[in-house]
Amino acid sequence: RTTVAAVLSAVVSVSLAACGEEGDAGSGGDKSVGIAMPTTKSPRWIDDGRNMVKQMKEFGYGATLKYAEDDPKTQVEQVQTMIDQGVDTLVIAAVDGRSFNDVLRRAESAHIPVISYDRLLLGTPDVDYYATFDNEKVGELQANHIIEQLGLVNGSGKGPFNIELFAGSPDDNNTKFFFDGAMKVLRPYIQNRDLVVRSGETKLDKITTLRWDGVRAQKRMNDLLDSHYGTERVDAVLSPYDGMSLGIIKALKSHGYGKAGKTLPIVTGQDAEVPSVKSIIAGEQSETVYKDTRELALITSYMVNAVIHNKKPVVNDSDTYDNGKKVVPAYLLEPVSVDKGNYKRVLVDSGYIKKSDLD
Ligand code: BGC
Repeated sequence: RTTVAAVLSAVVSVSLAACGEEGDAGSGGDKSVGIAMPTTKSPRWIDDGRNMVKQMKEFGYGATLKYAEDDPKTQVEQVQTMIDQGVDTLVIAAVDGRSFNDVLRRAESAHIPVISYDRLLLGTPDVDYYATFDNEKVGELQANHIIEQLGLVNGSGKGPFNIELFAGSPDDNNTKFFFDGAMKVLRPYIQNRDLVVRSGETKLDKITTLRWDGVRAQKRMNDLLDSHYGTERVDAVLSPYDGMSLGIIKALKSHGYGKAGKTLPIVTGQDAEVPSVKSIIAGEQSETVYKDTRELALITSYMVNAVIHNKKPVVNDSDTYDNGKKVVPAYLLEPVSVDKGNYKRVLVDSGYIKKSDLD
């Protein structure tokens, strides 16, 4: 697994070597970076913003950080303002991956390199690099957790088990990757009916959740339970994101799950956000996928530093992320599955979450 230290030493050495000006690499002069983040509603993006600004400062660069509160139009305006202010590089985690074409044309004309952060910018040639996690692996980890917990891997579980599927926002390119990764694992079990989707909703366009909204997920879970689970129980829910998982759990509890005799189903998640880790400790949410935003900020900041010096940053994937106009060279980090058994070691011992935040 990629550790911060390993990434740091690998990338530092290559990146500094690539820059060929080791002494300069840490001093940014008067360079500045515009950082566009999607929302402060989710703790992970607050961390991402904070980590990025910190890394940029360490390079001596100025940083402008803006959050768009999940409104694509606001975010495009924020990026336009950054271009007008003359930033030297843009780092964008898009609300809607397709909304930036015109504004990025203008960035290109102003010779401002653009780095896609976590989420790929789509349908534009004007994006230079992409820093993210192995997004398909995220879905695989969630699905593997489900089949392991149901005992379908070692044969201890007696199916068929009922499962319902949730996906993320349709305007986020990651959504498809998470879902495809999960379905790669789940599909054979659905085909041989060890897993049954009682709602029949297995196609991505039926199960997306606009803006990853927990309230929307809660409503859909309520509807599914009302329509398809009269006397039957749901045994597992594939949820792609912690904020949705907590909404789904609320719906389940309002239908009597989590009380004596009716245990909650296995519910997955993503981002290792504190409320979800607390839920895991309390035995409610079952799993989350940890993506170390410190590592992502680190990788991205080395990309920024390289492009500012007109050098090629280090990438480890050159053929996966086709945005419709070009295949964007990417650096993919490793996601890690976290549950009650390993949260202390993975999240607390690594310093990602303070123990006191979990009390
Ligand atoms: C990110 C996930 C996050 C989701 C909702 C995705 O683009 O990759 O980590 O859970 O957005 O914010």
